[in-house]
Amino acid sequence: MSADPDCLFCKIIAGDVPGDVVHRGERTVAFRDINPQAPLHVLVVPRDHEPNAAASAGADAAMFAEIATTARAVAAAEGYDDYRLVFNTGAGVGQTVFHTHGHVLAGRAMTWPPG
Ligand code: 5GP
Ligand code: ZN
Repeated sequence: MSADPDCLFCKIIAGDVPGDVVHRGERTVAFRDINPQAPLHVLVVPRDHEPNAAASAGADAAMFAEIATTARAVAAAEGYDDYRLVFNTGAGVGQTVFHTHGHVLAGRAMTWPPG
């Protein structure tokens, strides 16, 4: 699937909903989370709409790797070598927006396991 007209992140990618975009690539886009959980909190999304990371990895593994590469570039551009890359995959683990996104979090101490 390339875009879903009802999807919030597809609308941000298209520019129909405002977003604080920090990266626009051929296949990935990154924008700041509206409710940041760390000094750096950016969402890296594929341009192609898939509902979650499992679906994206299955549909296009190379594109999925690009999400990781974009996450590294976004963190590095803001001066962070250390960052956490999280994919909530499914409502049962807290996914609320059903367009694949990796959360890039950095700039504060973090605990493990996550809550
Ligand atoms: P999830 O819970 O699905 O893993 O993450 C969804 C993320 O999207 C949340 O961290 C939430 O703050 C963020 N979010 C929800 N609505 C918007 C929005 O309109 N703009 C931006 N930039 N982020 C949003
Ligand atoms: Zn979408």
